[in-house]
Amino acid sequence: SEKLTIGLIPADGIGKEVIPPAAEVMDAVLPGKFEFITLPAGFELFQQTGVALPDETVETLRTKCQGALFGAVSSPSHKVAGYSSPIVALRKKLQTYANIRPVSSPAVRNAKNQTVPVDMLIIRENTECLYIKKERSETDENGQKVCYAERKISEFASKRIGRVAFDMAVARGKLREQQKQQGINVAWTGKPKVTIVHKSNVLSVTDGLFRESVLAVKNEKPEYADVDVEEQLVDSMVYRMFREPEKFDVVVAPNMYGDIISDGAAALVGSLGLVPSTNFGDVVVIGEPVHGSAPDIAGKGIANPIASIRSAAMLLENLGFTAEAAKIYNAVDKLLSEGKTLTPDLGGNATTKDVTAAIISQL
Ligand code: NAD
Ligand code: MN
Repeated sequence: SEKLTIGLIPADGIGKEVIPPAAEVMDAVLPGKFEFITLPAGFELFQQTGVALPDETVETLRTKCQGALFGAVSSPSHKVAGYSSPIVALRKKLQTYANIRPVSSPAVRNAKNQTVPVDMLIIRENTECLYIKKERSETDENGQKVCYAERKISEFASKRIGRVAFDMAVARGKLREQQKQQGINVAWTGKPKVTIVHKSNVLSVTDGLFRESVLAVKNEKPEYADVDVEEQLVDSMVYRMFREPEKFDVVVAPNMYGDIISDGAAALVGSLGLVPSTNFGDVVVIGEPVHGSAPDIAGKGIANPIASIRSAAMLLENLGFTAEAAKIYNAVDKLLSEGKTLTPDLGGNATTKDVTAAIISQL
């Protein structure tokens, strides 16, 4: 059968260390099936060439690739003239409107000191909110700066992300029913549930629209009738997520809340180095670890590759290779439950290469 072309965009810092292992695992599970092409982007590229996201990278993804894996970029916290984050631009240019972030673990110590299973799917709107980056700076009557940021919430994008949430809730519900029948333990035993995260008690116009739009989606299809809907203000969402993470199924949020709660959720399951994602849209699916470029550990060969390897598995699922993806998930779960080959973020002393080799040997 024909080869599939996968774009690899390692970008900066540990992105360069964790994306090659993810490609290795894809190749190990389906030998020779993929042609990988490495595409440039990132802050380091910007420093060398003045361009953070070359048009050719975007066009290659758009026209030649069936899927992609993105590592991480190092975006400085201060303003750098001419620079803007390539991943934010890429998500927008390729209209990958949903960022899907599964956070799961068979045993999480919650803030009530109980050990509970967690299986949460965070769905982050990926195209608007404060990340439209319309900021402006003014000077007040005292000569001091006042800065503003515009926040965009549209009915279109909110309903679009709402549909992703309900579709995924239904699909996860069906899968859990099958698993229960096969005697497999499932973390969430209730009906499929969508938790809408917002702050419409304060931001009644913008977050109010997000809330109303997602709620309205529930009535669009008969199959959504069986999905429970719950709302959670974003601050108490954080509280509940640490107190009772076992009580969440699908969680849908505007861009920035989704960004923040998913890093929090990563802490729950032990490390940012474990949590994968896909940027999902109409053109191409981009797998991407939730973490950043981790300058504190970059270059040491100790970055945890699991977030990227799980992102590769999510990409495979999207490409229709469900069985192969399951093999990868199982190999990772086995490695984690054995607890022998772990990188320092999980308390071990294994290297990125050790973990990759151990996963490949379990496939
Ligand atoms: P970060 O996610 O890079 O790191 C946070 C902490 O988690 C660090 O202590 C790091 O060592 C640890 N960590 C992250 N991934 C790990 C892994 N795979 N294995 C082991 N430990 C891991 O967040 P930060 O430090 O706030 O940001 C660093 C840079 O990354 C910044 O320039 C930021 O702009 C960028 N960033 C990029 C993305 C992206 O490309 N999508 C996302 C977040 C942050
Ligand atoms: Mn983030």
